[in-house]
Amino acid sequence: MELTIRREKKHMISSKMIHMYCHAHHNTDKQSLCDHCQAISDYSEFRTSKCPYIAKTLYCINCPTPCYKPDMKKEMAVIMKYAGPRFLFKHPIYFIDHLITDFKTRGRKK
Ligand SMILES: [Zn+2]
Repeated sequence: MELTIRREKKHMISSKMIHMYCHAHHNTDKQSLCDHCQAISDYSEFRTSKCPYIAKTLYCINCPTPCYKPDMKKEMAVIMKYAGPRFLFKHPIYFIDHLITDFKTRGRKK
């Protein structure tokens, strides 16, 4: 998969999850984000654009050197904890993709 497409896909997934979280916790409608979540989404997009591991994994959980600054990492962890399982339930294709990527990444480390 081409790197630009991977970056877009990665950002699209995090963005969807941030929207789910914001909608449920900050009473925004499904298409919009509150200022706080917008800032998190922008930060995530920025980090994704700089990610040197994008060719290997779409998922930060597999990353050998997590690049989020500590407060953003905490915010993201809360969002992922809420939205992750719901997102994967709604979009199982990403869950399967996640498993495959995870499996491949692990296979390569050995
Ligand atoms: Zn919000």
